[in-house]
Amino acid sequence: MKHRKALTHNRPTGKVYCPDCGKYGFHTRKDAKRMEKQYPEEQMRPYRCPTADDIWHLGHLPAVVRQGEMSADEWFDTAAEVAQ
Ligand SMILES: [Zn+2]
Repeated sequence: MKHRKALTHNRPTGKVYCPDCGKYGFHTRKDAKRMEKQYPEEQMRPYRCPTADDIWHLGHLPAVVRQGEMSADEWFDTAAEVAQ
């Protein structure tokens, strides 16, 4: 009889706490997107954690984006430059 190896620990899913940002994130962009879709009224957007390459966070869009003064891509590009 063959021994079956548990694979679950190799495939992390769901939420993960990021101590650098002090907030929860996700291991994949897909997981973050899935959460975003559950709260469409929140207008959140997935972005890669600035310190951990394997974590995605959800961020709220700022007022300038919601009011159409900047696109979300423009705002996140600016935010990424500031963070560096
Ligand atoms: Zn983080």
